[in-house]
Amino acid sequence: FGWWDRVSPAAKDPITGVTEAFLADTNPHKINLGVGAYRDDEGKPVVLQCVRNAEAKIAGCDFINVGRESNATAVGSKLVEESAKLAYGKDANVVKEGAFAGLQALSGTGACRLFAEFQRRFHPESPIYFPDPTWSNHPNIWRDAQVPVRTFQYYHPVSKGLNFAALMDDIKNAPDASFFLLHPCAHNPTGVDPTVEQWREISYQFKEKSHFPFFDVAYQGFASGDLDMDAQAIRIFLEDGHLIGCAQSFAKNMGLYGHRVGCLSVLCADAKQAVAVKSQLQQIARAMYSNPPIHGLLLVSTILSDPETKALWVKEVKVMANRIQQMRSTLRESLEKLASPLNWEHITNQVGMFCFSGLTADQVDRLVREFHIYLTRDGRMSMAGVTTSNVSYLANAIHEVTR
Ligand code: PLP
Repeated sequence: FGWWDRVSPAAKDPITGVTEAFLADTNPHKINLGVGAYRDDEGKPVVLQCVRNAEAKIAGCDFINVGRESNATAVGSKLVEESAKLAYGKDANVVKEGAFAGLQALSGTGACRLFAEFQRRFHPESPIYFPDPTWSNHPNIWRDAQVPVRTFQYYHPVSKGLNFAALMDDIKNAPDASFFLLHPCAHNPTGVDPTVEQWREISYQFKEKSHFPFFDVAYQGFASGDLDMDAQAIRIFLEDGHLIGCAQSFAKNMGLYGHRVGCLSVLCADAKQAVAVKSQLQQIARAMYSNPPIHGLLLVSTILSDPETKALWVKEVKVMANRIQQMRSTLRESLEKLASPLNWEHITNQVGMFCFSGLTADQVDRLVREFHIYLTRDGRMSMAGVTTSNVSYLANAIHEVTR
């Protein structure tokens, strides 16, 4: 019987396709601006010193014993508590009072998927609104969880900044009590974040409309270099008394991409409600993948709970963010020196790992074909792929395809 005769190949993920094409290219000048992970000034992936130190600390660890249910639960609780402090603030009442349900998740993607399943279980009719554009995997995750997917206006192609008026209109016009996904900092793919004042207005409007804010925190530290500053949006919503959902990833800001460590937290009315919510999240996780792996969990909980290692991490996050900011400035200056007739201010106005360059799909195709520079056709450039030695080649190429 032809069980799989009707199966045709799935559409390629746009980002995976860019990496494959880059790897197949043998040109020595090739540049990969598709990568979503941090690279150093030599274009190499980085193992942070805080991770090496944490590795050394757990080296003698008896994984079989740590993996036993009760021990793993204790390490998991530590990770959840420390992650919640990172998001909501170290002195936040919700953390002190335990008025939140938190669970270790399979990195940011896993945290999003867990929440999507939870949302469908308790609010099956409610859609979720994503910013337009958003990370390409968001619609996949919620669609696969059978949640209706909508968008709200976010990016303004002319200013290459935020379309704040349209965003507020969409928030007002959405049915009351809708779910909204928000990027609290370093928006992917645009690098465009609301200002603190705008976040206050957004939070106020969410209250008026009883919307639920779900924050996807994949790049905490990458926007400003400061972990607390990058959590300002979440803190504003917290102050305004919202119940919040939050997906946190340590893939980028700890460089732990392959370890899949993240956290999902859902604020609740009180500690009793938190117990019920957590038990539901655990039940969902149990059916999907049972327990997460333990090694990355130990690394992250060691980094977050050992003061010396944590201080080192805070410093290293700043170094990564500074390098990216430096590359933004250099790229913009290089284009201006070439007397490009276009305005490149958005390269330094935008923040975080990504720059939404404004290049058209045709211009991107020329960058690939003529200059061996790889990026997605929406014009998103990962600034992590830019280095001191390739930035002038990149500026020249961008100038050539845009003049
Ligand atoms: N959310 C956003 C906005 C992202 O850009 C990413 C990764 O690119 C993720 C979540 C999930 O990342 P991971 O599952 O690797 O932690």
